[in-house]
Amino acid sequence: MDDEDYVRRAKDTEICKKCRNIVVGKGNLNAGIMFIGEAPGRNEDEQGLPFVGAAGKNLDNLLEKVGLTMNDVYIANILKCRPPENRNPLPEEIKAHTPWLIEQIKQIKPKVICSLGNYSTKFFLADGDVDKMDNMPGITQVHGKMRVIEFHGLKIKLIPLFHPAAIIYKRDLLNLWEDDMEIVKSEIKHKKLV
Ligand code: URA
Repeated sequence: MDDEDYVRRAKDTEICKKCRNIVVGKGNLNAGIMFIGEAPGRNEDEQGLPFVGAAGKNLDNLLEKVGLTMNDVYIANILKCRPPENRNPLPEEIKAHTPWLIEQIKQIKPKVICSLGNYSTKFFLADGDVDKMDNMPGITQVHGKMRVIEFHGLKIKLIPLFHPAAIIYKRDLLNLWEDDMEIVKSEIKHKKLV
């Protein structure tokens, strides 16, 4: 079967031609909550799954702390392939890869999206308009501040969180992350998301 256009657009980028595995996502396609990171790293590229390295361990721990299992969530990234040396995603790559992410969101229809880190957060704050991302506030300003967004016809609560890789050796950020997860926890309880 031919790839859909949104898949082909991503696969046509240089990073996709060079990566080992395309990392689509993991978790439950019926989940009420999605976590969306930036891009696969080395471990993710090797295994073909998102968040399986050190950042993934942090994410797993925090999910466990708020009582979520992999069956309650779906996890994906802005980019489907690892950029060389884990460099930052380029605007052209984000433009080529996010139509695939948007299809995933339209299929899953989450009530809540937790955006992990700057790129993911700015993408949603800019309403998916990559050219506007630079003008959006960074994660330090907006982490833990929930807002309702209209995204491709879906009403979604966006909860920006620090990227789990950013908190690895930073105790102060970890404390903030845990505080922010309380908001996630209360949303889950409130909305009966699991
Ligand atoms: N960082 C991300 O943003 N995504 C992953 O899948 C792994 C690390």
